Amino acid sequence: MVPTKNQRTTRLLAQLISLILSLPIRERTKVRGAVKIFSSSFFPLHLRERVRVRGAVFLLFLFFSISQSQIIEIHQLNVDQGDACFLRVDTFKILIDGANATKGNNIINPYLSALGISKLNFTVASHHHADHIGGLDEVILSLNPDICYDRGGSYSSAQFTEYISAVGPRRSTPAVAETLLNLTTPNGKITLSTLAVSGNLKNYGYAGTSDENTQSIALLLEFISITQDTFKFFTAGDLYARQESILVVKNPELENVQLLKISHHGSSSSTPQILLDKLKPLAVFISVGENNSYGHPHTETLLKLQNAESVRFIYQTTAGSHTSAKSIIAGHIIAKVFDRFFTITTSNNPAHIDTFYFSRDHTLNIEDEPFKNDKDKGERKMLLKTKSENGFTLLEISTPSEIIQKVLIFNILGQLIQETNLHAENTTLTIPNTASGVYLISVFTNRNIYHDKFIITK
Ligand SMILES: [Zn+2]
Repeated sequence: MVPTKNQRTTRLLAQLISLILSLPIRERTKVRGAVKIFSSSFFPLHLRERVRVRGAVFLLFLFFSISQSQIIEIHQLNVDQGDACFLRVDTFKILIDGANATKGNNIINPYLSALGISKLNFTVASHHHADHIGGLDEVILSLNPDICYDRGGSYSSAQFTEYISAVGPRRSTPAVAETLLNLTTPNGKITLSTLAVSGNLKNYGYAGTSDENTQSIALLLEFISITQDTFKFFTAGDLYARQESILVVKNPELENVQLLKISHHGSSSSTPQILLDKLKPLAVFISVGENNSYGHPHTETLLKLQNAESVRFIYQTTAGSHTSAKSIIAGHIIAKVFDRFFTITTSNNPAHIDTFYFSRDHTLNIEDEPFKNDKDKGERKMLLKTKSENGFTLLEISTPSEIIQKVLIFNILGQLIQETNLHAENTTLTIPNTASGVYLISVFTNRNIYHDKFIITK
């Protein structure tokens, strides 16, 4: 396929940025120094300022238009007791599981329609239990996927019969270690592959039983950015601890998986300690129904997650039967993966954004726990002022006696529109020409993180 002019330009710019990012710090300083010398020797001060502001806006525009749109979205839907997870990977749209009957028409289809999704590339049914497959026929009939992956075989239930009749000839059973998606984008490489199918585990063999949960398809989504930073998401239906343990022992790619969907709705029969020790997830999802009859999530699982040092937050779609001190009762959970970090927002509190870094660049691993130290709370202070100038919005930020290191600006959908790295107590940022509306800002200082909102009116 011949790339379009746009694609060629994007690729070229991506290569340029990757080149700059790959330079050692001293070389980057030299590049910055050259720009500084250019502006200070050729322009009087007032012009120089203007050039600098325009240049900064232009560079920001280039930077964000290439590498700062989210690369992957993961939506764990609040479907009561059951499971449904939507992935948007580059232009690919994938649904993993469809929750119980009626949840397709009542929750999943309206949710995806609100995202502007009118067609899926493929669906994956992790296994044949009704809380995963029951609403999938409703989604398949409405969003017409090209392929419907499942574990194969048969199952005796009305929901399975309905699923099979909706799928028709599109039914396909992947092999173990099969790559379902393999993309090269300007931001890096993305793969989605199977680690377990029908009881067969990658690099091991058969470890299933007649229990349907042991047949679950396990998937690893992996993104390796152009800066060689790696993000991973693992989801394994209702797989049990025995299969999960074998998987992590036999498959080194299951190390450092930043985002984990806890198997089997937080049941104590899943999520062995070795899984958490190997994966070291930064955030976990639990899909669980309010006051469910199974007691999910079980306190044993929550305790393990509570004690796991790597886990910052446990996002539960509902409070289920139990919660822990790390639990966030989320509703729908939305993760957006950028090239060095990912954010999580929830439908219960859409104005709040949690940011997690997976970059190997340690200067980006900012101390990220604003409320760690209770006595700091009283001292936290950020002043935010907006003003309008020549059609641009200027944002004045000050954090007295703290050093601002990073500022992230998001639109109300949680999409990052601007990222600025700096080192200052005060700063004035120019926001590129964006639409009127409410915007969210996260300011990282050497001591705190501040979240706030501001409004742009035209
Ligand atoms: Zn289930």
